Amino acid sequence: MVSHEDLAVRTLGPCRIDSPLAERLVARETTQHSVVEEDRILFDDTISMAGGRGLPVEQLPSLEPGGPRKRIYFDPAKTRVGIVTCGGLCPGLNDVIRGLVLELSRHYGVRRIVGFRNGYRGFVPRYGEDVVDLTPEVVMHIDDEGGTILGTSRGEQDPDEIVDALERLNINILFVIGGDGTIRGAMDVVRVVGERGLKVAVVGIPKTIDNDIPYIDQSFGFQTAMAEATKSIHAASVEARSAPGGIGLVKLMGRHSGFIACYATLAKDDADYVLIPEVPFALDGERGLLQHLRRRVQERGHAVVVVAEGAGQEYIEGEEPGRDASGNVRFGDIGRLLRKRIVEHLDAHGVENNVRYFDPSYAIRSVPANPFDSAYCLRLAHAAVHAAMAGRTEVIVARRRRRFVHMPMPLAVSRRNHVDPLGDLWLSVLEATGQPVRFE
Ligand code: ATP
Ligand code: MG
Repeated sequence: MVSHEDLAVRTLGPCRIDSPLAERLVARETTQHSVVEEDRILFDDTISMAGGRGLPVEQLPSLEPGGPRKRIYFDPAKTRVGIVTCGGLCPGLNDVIRGLVLELSRHYGVRRIVGFRNGYRGFVPRYGEDVVDLTPEVVMHIDDEGGTILGTSRGEQDPDEIVDALERLNINILFVIGGDGTIRGAMDVVRVVGERGLKVAVVGIPKTIDNDIPYIDQSFGFQTAMAEATKSIHAASVEARSAPGGIGLVKLMGRHSGFIACYATLAKDDADYVLIPEVPFALDGERGLLQHLRRRVQERGHAVVVVAEGAGQEYIEGEEPGRDASGNVRFGDIGRLLRKRIVEHLDAHGVENNVRYFDPSYAIRSVPANPFDSAYCLRLAHAAVHAAMAGRTEVIVARRRRRFVHMPMPLAVSRRNHVDPLGDLWLSVLEATGQPVRFE
């Protein structure tokens, strides 16, 4: 259970500098645009959750609100900022970079902003990556394209070398945009910064196309990815209905969490089966997927199957799974395995079949953000700048129950967000597809 202590945000020190935004936003009679530091955001949102703690109100776990402060920690004229993107692509990365640069330069008057190239290796001299000067002119239209203008990478880098680079370039604030691995890497950087007694703020904007960061409403890029995924489901459905024994099979992202598969299926109500990592399924046997699918094809002539990449990994045979440069387990291709097993099963029962396999993952990850995600990315970037200028460190900015908050990095990587097999989202998927509650 998350406690009051888990939610304590680290700061570099007291805020003594008047914020340049104060005059425009907060120095009026009202304080409506600045954060009221004493008012925090309750972590629990039901009476039973809050009441179950048996605590006086002020001891209930609560989050520090995001947003502009009247007084800040860093003097903008003397502040130098670095930005890095790591891990896989996700729609909205360029929007976040753009939002950070515009907010820093236009509203706080920070003039020196650099981008590190290709993830954490951009800090390490032996890779020979030059830093990029980021100005409003450079970033103004980068949100038109997917990907990240800074490039990205996987693979471990020595946090001491990263902090060497921060010292060499006199960086006071580092923004990291990346997933769980990137946030863990940032925590290592914070540790070394502390060991050296430096005053460098490290603030994260969490990136996860799978929506598997815990405690936050939804990650940026998720909505865009899900909308793209619906196109593949629809294409699979058209293909399936256009051929005798047509079966459309779509593999979507979702290594540990099946949110994209679930939401894309609900948005484009064309799928008959959805398979996600959180819900194990039997392939063979009287109540297994293959028998059910065969009966469906025999009765209706076609079917659409959506599978998240992390589902059914126990069926991937062969050697130990490999690992990528960052140490993440490489997943076996469940889509290909299903295609093979479906064809074998239907052939064995003399059922005509035409399986069309779609694997749109890279095409989905690389698209530009949709307007919802663009707006969200911009606001996350604003919140990240406010947090960093106020000296907050080892935090990510996030939206929880529609409010921007500061969440300590250790909490953000303490667990993953999953589709609850007993929850209402999975129930909606079962209702939409009509698939059995279990293949067993
Ligand atoms: P994605 O969601 O795409 O996997 P990610 O941020 O988790 O994003 P990774 O490739 O796992 O992507 O990690 C990105 C960077 O963070 C790499 O440089 C990697 O070495 C570093 N990193 C990953 N895990 C850790 C860890 N446990 N401790 C320190 N650094 C890490
Ligand atoms: Mg990861």
